[in-house]
Amino acid sequence: MLASDIRRLCLIIGFAIIAGWAIGNILLSLLVAVLLYCAWLHQQVGQLLRWIRDRKHTPAPEPRGVFEDLCRELDYLRDRDKKRKKKLRAYLKQFQQATRALPDGTVVLDELGSVKWANKAATATLGIRWPDDNNQRITNLVRMPELVEFIDVATKKSSIDVASPVDPEIRLNIRLTPYGNNQRLFVARDITQLHRTDQIRSDFVANVSHELKTPITVLRGYLETMSSQQELCPPAWQPGLEQMGNHVKRMQAVVEDLLTLSKLEQNDHVADHAPVPVAEMITDIHRQAQNLEDHSDHIFVLEIDTNLEILGSSNELFSCFSNLVFNAVQYTAARGVIEIQWYRDEYGAHFSVKDNGKGIPVEKIPRLTERFYRVDRSRARALGGTGLGLAIVNHVLSRHQATLHVESEVGLGSTFRCDFRPESIVAAQVHDAEDQSA
Ligand code: ADP
Repeated sequence: MLASDIRRLCLIIGFAIIAGWAIGNILLSLLVAVLLYCAWLHQQVGQLLRWIRDRKHTPAPEPRGVFEDLCRELDYLRDRDKKRKKKLRAYLKQFQQATRALPDGTVVLDELGSVKWANKAATATLGIRWPDDNNQRITNLVRMPELVEFIDVATKKSSIDVASPVDPEIRLNIRLTPYGNNQRLFVARDITQLHRTDQIRSDFVANVSHELKTPITVLRGYLETMSSQQELCPPAWQPGLEQMGNHVKRMQAVVEDLLTLSKLEQNDHVADHAPVPVAEMITDIHRQAQNLEDHSDHIFVLEIDTNLEILGSSNELFSCFSNLVFNAVQYTAARGVIEIQWYRDEYGAHFSVKDNGKGIPVEKIPRLTERFYRVDRSRARALGGTGLGLAIVNHVLSRHQATLHVESEVGLGSTFRCDFRPESIVAAQVHDAEDQSA
C-alpha cells in the first residue's frame, strides 16, 4: 500500500470518528465509512478491468494511489508484449520466407494428415496449393496408395521414393518428420537426377551380366567336355582345366545373381502376388540342401506350420529362403545342427534358420546385406559364395514389406529370421474355401 493510500484511509477514519462523536455513535459512523470506501474501491477495480479489456473505448481509472502504479505496470507489460509479438512476427516471416524458398516441397500436416501450410515447391512437385488446400487431407490431394500407406499406416520405413503426381518423369523422395504438438513435416525432395544415375548403373550391370552370360556358358561347356575327355587332353592340363572350371562356375553364379538382383530392382513391388505354399517350399529346399556339395552330415531340425501361407512371389521367396538355408549349410562345420522354423505369432509370419556354425562378429552384421560383402573374404570365396545372396534376400523381403533380423555370436552360430507382416498371411478360411471349390 502506498503512503497516499494510507493517508487517505487515515483521513476517512478521522472524519468517521469525528462524525460518529457528533451523532453519538462512532461505531456506526466507522462502519458506514468503511462500506463507502469498499464501494469506491470496487468501482475503481471495475473501471480498471473494463479499461484492460477495451482500452480504446474506456477511460483509464483515475490514477490515484495503488491504481496509478497498477496502470503503469500494465502499460509496461503491454508494451513489452507488443515488442515481443513484433519480434516473433519478424522471425516467423523470415522462417516462412526461408521455407518458401526451399527447393524441396514442404507441407505442414496436423495429426489427421490435413494440410496446415505448404511452400511453393509443394505446388510444383505435389500439386498442393497454399492457401487453397488449407485443411484438406493430403491423401485426398495426392492420390497414391504408397503415400496413403506411408502416412496413415505406421510403417517402419523412414522414407519412400515415388513418381511425382504432377509429372511422372519427376522422382520424389518423401520424408515425414514428427514435431511439436502432433504435427508432421512432409518433405518431398526431387531425386530425379539421382534416380536416373541409379537407373544407368543398374542397366549397366544388367547389360554386362547379360552379355557375359552366353560366353561363360559356352566356356563352361567346353571346359566340361575337355575335362571329361581325358584321352584327348594331356594329363598335365587336368589341374588347370579343373581350376578354370571352378572359376567359370563361380563367374556363372555371380552373373546369375547379378541378373536376379537387376530383375528385383526393376520395380519395388511384387507383381504376381499369390498364396505361397511355404511348407512345401521348405521341404523342397531341405531336399536340395541335403544334396549340396557342402552338406556333410548336417543335422536338420524342421518345425513347420503346414497351414501357414503368405501372399507373395513363389520364385522370389524360394530364392530368399534357399539362400539362407544354403548359407547355413555352407558356413556350418560337418555334423552341425541347422534348425528351420516356419511359424506365426501376433507379429506375423516368421521364417527362421538357426545354425551352430562359426557365427558372425556383431559389428559386421549391419553390413551383411551389402553387395559383395563377405565376413571372411578368402573363406567365402573358397566356398564358392558370390557375396550377393543376402543382398537378394534383403531385396526380396523389402518387396514383400518384410524385414531380415540377424542374431549371431562368434563360435556359437547364427540365426537369420525373416519377419512378414500379419497382413501378408493368407486367411485360413478363405484359402480352405478355395481348396474345396477346386
Ligand atoms: P556368400 O555368397 O558369400 O555366402 P551372402 O551374401 O550369402 O554371400 O553372405 C554374405 C556373408 O555373410 C558371407 O560371405 C558370410 O561371411 C556371411 N554369412 C552368411 N550366412 C552365414 C551364416 N549362416 N553363418 C556365418 N556367416 C554367414
